Amino acid sequence: MEAQNNPPAKPGILQRLHAVLMPDYNRTATVYWWLMVALGGACLVYAGWEVHALPLSVLPQLLAGTALAVLAGFFPVRIPGSKNSFVAGEVFIFLLLLMHGTSAATLAAAGEAFIGSYRSSKRWTSRIASPTFSALAMSLAGHLMEATLGVVGSGGTAEAGVVLLVASAVAVAYWLLNTVFISLVITFKRNERFRVQDHLSSFGSVGIAYGGSALIAALLSLTVQQSGMGVLLGALPVVAMLLTTIHYFMRQQEAQETVRRSRMEAAEREAQQAARHVAALSDSERRFHNAFTHASIGMALVSFEGRILQANTALAGILGYERPDGLAQQPFSTLVAEDDRASLQASFEQIASRAVDKASLEVRCLDSSHAPLWASLNCAVFNEPDSETPCLIVQVQDISARRHAEAQLNHIAFHDGLTGLPNRGRFYTILSHALHTTKEDPEQHFALMFLDFDRFKLINDSMGHSAGDEFLIQVSRRIQDHMRPSDVVARLGGDEFAVLMHRMDDAKAATHLAERLQQVLRQPLLISGVAVTTSASMGVTFSSLGYTAPEEMLRDADTAMYRAKANGKARCALFDAALHTEVSNRLQLENDLREVIAKGELEIVYQPLFHIRDGHVRGFEALSRWTHPVRGPIPPSTFIPIAEEAGLIVELSDLMLVRACAQLRQWQELDPSLHHLKLQVNMSATDLAHSELFERVARALRATHFSPHLLTLELTESILMTGVEAALPAIEALRRLGVALAIDDFGTGYSSLSYLSTLPIDSLKIDRSFVHGMRMGSKDAEIVRAIVSLGATLGKSVVAEGIETVSQLGQLRDLGCEQGQGFHLSHPLKASEAQALLEAIVAERRHQHHPSFDTGMMPLTHH
Ligand code: C2E
Ligand code: CA
Ligand code: CA
Repeated sequence: MEAQNNPPAKPGILQRLHAVLMPDYNRTATVYWWLMVALGGACLVYAGWEVHALPLSVLPQLLAGTALAVLAGFFPVRIPGSKNSFVAGEVFIFLLLLMHGTSAATLAAAGEAFIGSYRSSKRWTSRIASPTFSALAMSLAGHLMEATLGVVGSGGTAEAGVVLLVASAVAVAYWLLNTVFISLVITFKRNERFRVQDHLSSFGSVGIAYGGSALIAALLSLTVQQSGMGVLLGALPVVAMLLTTIHYFMRQQEAQETVRRSRMEAAEREAQQAARHVAALSDSERRFHNAFTHASIGMALVSFEGRILQANTALAGILGYERPDGLAQQPFSTLVAEDDRASLQASFEQIASRAVDKASLEVRCLDSSHAPLWASLNCAVFNEPDSETPCLIVQVQDISARRHAEAQLNHIAFHDGLTGLPNRGRFYTILSHALHTTKEDPEQHFALMFLDFDRFKLINDSMGHSAGDEFLIQVSRRIQDHMRPSDVVARLGGDEFAVLMHRMDDAKAATHLAERLQQVLRQPLLISGVAVTTSASMGVTFSSLGYTAPEEMLRDADTAMYRAKANGKARCALFDAALHTEVSNRLQLENDLREVIAKGELEIVYQPLFHIRDGHVRGFEALSRWTHPVRGPIPPSTFIPIAEEAGLIVELSDLMLVRACAQLRQWQELDPSLHHLKLQVNMSATDLAHSELFERVARALRATHFSPHLLTLELTESILMTGVEAALPAIEALRRLGVALAIDDFGTGYSSLSYLSTLPIDSLKIDRSFVHGMRMGSKDAEIVRAIVSLGATLGKSVVAEGIETVSQLGQLRDLGCEQGQGFHLSHPLKASEAQALLEAIVAERRHQHHPSFDTGMMPLTHH
């Protein structure tokens, strides 16, 4: 425990000296230093003792040489490219060595080294080491020389060549030892390894200087040996001059070296500065070049003349070139398809003339293998930082994929997916274009064919839709194969096709072509393994008729096609002047009818319905009448179909319903005996299909306060045959409301009577054609009889219409037909006439008479 509190042992004098003199010396370096200093010191003591023993006459020489050596130590010459200095005094040291032995040289060397180190270093470690190390080195080298010369020759009589050689060797040895001794201090201090190569590179030049000094010294000593000391005295100025020359040469060298180095440094600084400047200046340029080179978008710098100055990798990639250099110096236009070169040129020129800042265009390009590709180009002026002349920068993007997709979409939009033919929309465009061309050049007349297959529905329904598709594909191919390449075949929808036939204005040529096409289409088609024969109805019209809109022309071709169908199908009809007037009349009528219905100006006539047995008026059938201001009365057989086609029939039916119900309601009020007057109103197929059938009828009944039980809707048998499933809920709702249904024109569409058991039908109206043909035992009479008994069986009342004669009336009465209507009984009556009839009936009844066709009502039928 005592030991712990003990203060550390006081450092000895040596440690303190060490800390002051050599704080940076480690143990090895310290030991080495002391060892070398001790050895060097010993050499000096020995040398001093030996010199002391020399004869007195030698002493001045010795002193002079040492003094000269020490003096020269004041004028060190830096060795160019080295940190070391050469001291001219070495010559005198070597001279002393050769003339007076090692000890004299040792003392001179130590003196010279002391002066040298004293000047160059402030540290005593260096000031002590330098002379002692030199002394040791000289001592070793000198004794080595003496030993060598002693072996080679005896005493001072050695050959001159040998002396020169040995002197040089000693100089090198001295130099080597001295520098190694000093270097070792540093390597030990730094704990580094001693490297011979490093050593030579830093001290090599000093060694050469030493060698040179030794040679001079050897020559001088030889001369002295041969010619005495006088020579040395004479040579001394020469030597001094020589040394001075060397000194100044070296100084000059050093100065030059300094200049060279400072120049180099200046140049380096300049270069660095320039580099910094360039780095700063070209930052944007480099950024641009980086962006240019590595951009994913294709880019080229193009001269205003259109030549590619530089292209980037992306552009080379787009165009299929291996390297961008392959594009340089080419005119840019060679990359662009010929058709687009003009627009490219125009864009370049506009930018070059500064008419525009930039231009964008889409062009077809050609890649390295001349394959076309779509590219979007964005061109603008570009001022390259390192060039005075501006150029164009062109950005190139491959838009082939987009263009392809657009083309596909276009195709889908304008072509029929099934047959690949132009669709209706596209055909309209083509047609209006053709019409436009015709207007400019009447020579360019063309024909338009509308084509509809006669049995497509049958094929589609019986063989399935895929067979129907197959059929359409095959016939479309046949039509196309048969037409000239300039003709345009289009599918308008379903089984409707249209063909635009260029340069055809001749009815005969068109008919001829249609006939040949007809023949081609008549050839059986193999569809799903089944041979199918087909035919088409065609309608043709000509641009020479002066069309302005494609729809007009198509409509006329369609009309002609319907004429062909009406004429017996599988034929072609031309749209001629007669058809033209027919169509235009019809169009005119349609417009007029629309107006009349809108104004509610359609008239209604009422044809009475009678009980055949007693001749009582049971009610009226409302029939529409239209008297055209110019054309006079137009029969319903003409205007009802027009109303259906023009979409006016629903309005017409509503008008009839409301007006007739209101009229009947008014008549019912005339007399209690008329309260049960019935009303029959005709309905069309469109009415039945109408989604609001029930609401419309119910609304009319409500509006007129007409009893639903007194209303009967007449539906033709053909309407029922086309399918009434969709209308069933409405029919049943009406039935529940009390509205009755009658089958009009019964017997004309009798392919199936199944609807009689499924539909809530109240009465059958025997078609007037059967009544007309009734004679005793005739076929029609049998049909009427069958219908009457059918009605009886099914519990439905039977009405005979078109009764024109007493005989017909009689037969019907005999058959037991319940009700009848016809010219023989009463023509359809105007409202006022009908009212007059009713008033007469009421008056008659007041006279206890029943009004009937048997009892004086007949005159009413002759109005
Ligand atoms: P329909 O329903 O069979 O009407 C009876 C047609 O026979 C009426 O012709 C009538 O004038 C006519 N007629 C009556 N008695 C005789 C006769 O003894 N001999 C002959 N030969 N004919 C007789 P109308 O008025 O020309 O009507 C023709 C067709 O037009 C009607 O046939 C009906 O289907 C339709 N129609 C008439 N008005 C309307 C209406 O308001 N709406 C609808 N949807 N169709 C109507
Ligand atoms: Ca009717
Ligand atoms: Ca009828």
